[in-house]
Amino acid sequence: MGFPIKTCIICSEEFELRPDKPGFANRCPSCSEPEESEETEGQVGDDVDSELNAARRRAIRELLYRKES
Ligand SMILES: [Zn+2]
Repeated sequence: MGFPIKTCIICSEEFELRPDKPGFANRCPSCSEPEESEETEGQVGDDVDSELNAARRRAIRELLYRKES
C-alpha cells in the first residue's frame, strides 16, 4: 500500500502524496518548504527595494488586521 505518486511541478521529482504532507499537492516536500530568499533579497537590495518591501509589508499587515476585526 502506498500513497499516490505525484510529479513535482517545481523540480519534476516524483514524490508520495501523503495526506499529511504540508504545502501544495503538486510540489514535493522540499519544494513545499517556505522559501527564505525573500528576506535575503531584502537585505541585499538597495534602499529603494527595502522601502518598497516595507510598504508592501505594511499593506499586507493592514489587510490582515482588517480581516481580523
Ligand atoms: Zn520539488
